[in-house]
Amino acid sequence: MEPLVAAIDQGTSSTRFLVFNARTAELVSHQQVEITQSFPKEGWVEADPKEIMQSVYKVMDRTCEKLHQLSVDVSRIKVYISCIFPVSVVWLDLRTQSTVERLINKAPGRNKNHLKHKTGLPISTYFSAVKLRWLLDNVDEVKQAVVSGRALFGTVDSWIIWCLTGGRSGGVHITDVTNASRTMLFNIHTLNWDQELCRYFDIPMEILPKVHSSSEIYGHMCLGDQSAALVGQMCFSDGQAKNTYGTGCFLLRNTGTKSVMSEHGLLTTVAYKLGKNQPAHYALEGSVAIAGAVVRWLRDNMGIVQSSSEIEELAAAAGTSYGCYFVPAFSGLYAPTGSPVIICGLTQFTNRNHLAFAALEAVCFQTREILDAMNLDSGVPLSQLQVDGGMTSNRLLMQLQADILCMPVVRPSMAETTALGVAMAAGAAEGVEVWSLSPQQLPVISAETFEPQINTEGTTGPMAAGCSAL
Ligand code: ADP
Repeated sequence: MEPLVAAIDQGTSSTRFLVFNARTAELVSHQQVEITQSFPKEGWVEADPKEIMQSVYKVMDRTCEKLHQLSVDVSRIKVYISCIFPVSVVWLDLRTQSTVERLINKAPGRNKNHLKHKTGLPISTYFSAVKLRWLLDNVDEVKQAVVSGRALFGTVDSWIIWCLTGGRSGGVHITDVTNASRTMLFNIHTLNWDQELCRYFDIPMEILPKVHSSSEIYGHMCLGDQSAALVGQMCFSDGQAKNTYGTGCFLLRNTGTKSVMSEHGLLTTVAYKLGKNQPAHYALEGSVAIAGAVVRWLRDNMGIVQSSSEIEELAAAAGTSYGCYFVPAFSGLYAPTGSPVIICGLTQFTNRNHLAFAALEAVCFQTREILDAMNLDSGVPLSQLQVDGGMTSNRLLMQLQADILCMPVVRPSMAETTALGVAMAAGAAEGVEVWSLSPQQLPVISAETFEPQINTEGTTGPMAAGCSAL
């Protein structure tokens, strides 16, 4: 019997548990539970760690039940793993704005890139160190727990692994290099927590998890979600890139074993380190803070759609934004510039269909901006973009993206490449040889290509602005 490999994909909007056949990478089972996001104050975005854990147990239980009904022996599942992103103060949260301003003001030359040579990151509300600093400054229980040695800090992957490996009764407190590289406390060149960075943010090093490679077994293991998607998309070569369209968008371009520092506002991050003795691979990364989240906002706050997928119907009915532009900078715009939230170009003719179209265009325009920055940094323009994530089921969005980028957009038939990447890394560690499969052997890599359809002179079609005008 062929072994099975399972992955937990704990995202901002939902938790998923996917089981793959370890030899063919075929998806055997997929369970998903939506996560509550709360907005207790303007700019604050929280998730409940207990709810996250309950959702993890729920998707795992449901999977076991389903596999049981199919008479699949669950003991064939070799590895459980998790992949994720920062803390229960969600990455989109802006409460640390003043902490960030204070830190930038005290940096030499008020340079927000002051720590970039070590971390690959600008000082920003996005990363964990400032969130932890805020908690230590503002939540007495956290401060007391650290003082009395009762506190551990970690990203969500650490939390899940700690819980799954026994929690208070001996849970393992670890993370991997990809998640650690998003904390601003980690030196991405030495691949260790950095004393100077910890001193800078005044964070005690002993509360940090032990850092491992992305493909090892320590009870359970992890790989940052965006890095996992890069692996799942088989972007192993220098110059290959993928964009994941979930709550936000994350465009990563593999730069091989060298770390490239961006001159156009992008981040430098650890892409993966597949094994203790393997070298770390790096990536340039640009993110769009609000992508699927804008669709969720139109659904939950505006009631313009009942479900996220309905937006495609509305946008298709309009076929154009009719001159309406939507800049959904609810959490600022991460890369490459900052901006306020704007909806402009409204006329008496504008209706919800145009707004739906403008929202999807906003995701595409932001991706275009990042891709342009990436091309400038690397000097070699991308020739196609590989895509994945929840939003990519929206065909209109995919076509718009190809039109706005003026390049083919390639979508794998199985959009859950993040989970596949995690499963592949797990398989490699477990020795089930998922890793040794070449892309040709993977049915999952079969893909659909969306070719750009607007003409480059920009004279026809709804996107008549054209490639050259952008
Ligand atoms: P995450 O991994 O960040 O939790 P997912 O990859 O699960 O995100 O994608 C969910 C996001 O995609 C949600 O914000 C949802 O609004 C959006 N989304 C899902 N389906 C569609 C669709 N058909 N069209 C547009 N947006 C969608």
